[in-house]
Amino acid sequence: MRILVIEDEQKIAAALKRGLELKGYAVDAVHDADTGLSHALDSDYDIILLDRMLPGSMDGVELARRARAGGQSAPIIMLTARGSVSDKVEGLAGGADDYLVKPFSFDELVARIQALLRRPPLVSTEALTCQDLSLNPSTFVVARAGQTIDLSQKEFALLEYLMRNQGRVVSKDTIIAHVWDGDSLILPNTVEVYVGYLRAKIDKPFKKALLKTKRGFGYILG
Ligand code: CA
Repeated sequence: MRILVIEDEQKIAAALKRGLELKGYAVDAVHDADTGLSHALDSDYDIILLDRMLPGSMDGVELARRARAGGQSAPIIMLTARGSVSDKVEGLAGGADDYLVKPFSFDELVARIQALLRRPPLVSTEALTCQDLSLNPSTFVVARAGQTIDLSQKEFALLEYLMRNQGRVVSKDTIIAHVWDGDSLILPNTVEVYVGYLRAKIDKPFKKALLKTKRGFGYILG
């Protein structure tokens, strides 16, 4: 899952990027409204964290409005130092889905992100499943046929994306867009390499292959 952070306070932006990456998200951080809007119009983001007061030609509320007008449908969480009721109403009317008043706790932010992505809450043991394969986004436990499988952070992120889209063919470009951040130089070959790593762990030791290649189109799980 890929997250866009639009926040001009570099310290906060860097802390959010680092913290969310540790949670397994791919994160791009930008620091002004105009760069933010051009990124926000990119449909590859799964969620957008948007500071309300930003340098540039518009504030966060206007940015959310323009992103929505431009067809961006990813959930937007507005971050702001101001917490009055009228500010909240204005932010939500502008197209934000949720609102967090600074200073907020990182755990609360993660809980809101998970709620908007309809992930199970942090303490839940609910897992995503595909036949006898399961992946728990909260505990990072992956298992197949009762056997626990160790995955690297990227393998986990790739499998999570495939499980959330199971039964659908996903292209290498779509995978790159949702599993890696914009700073990563990723070629379609890299996806093939990671799919190979994943297959060696989730399919090879078991009788039935779950991760299939649709030649010329991409991959399908299930
Ligand atoms: Ca700000």
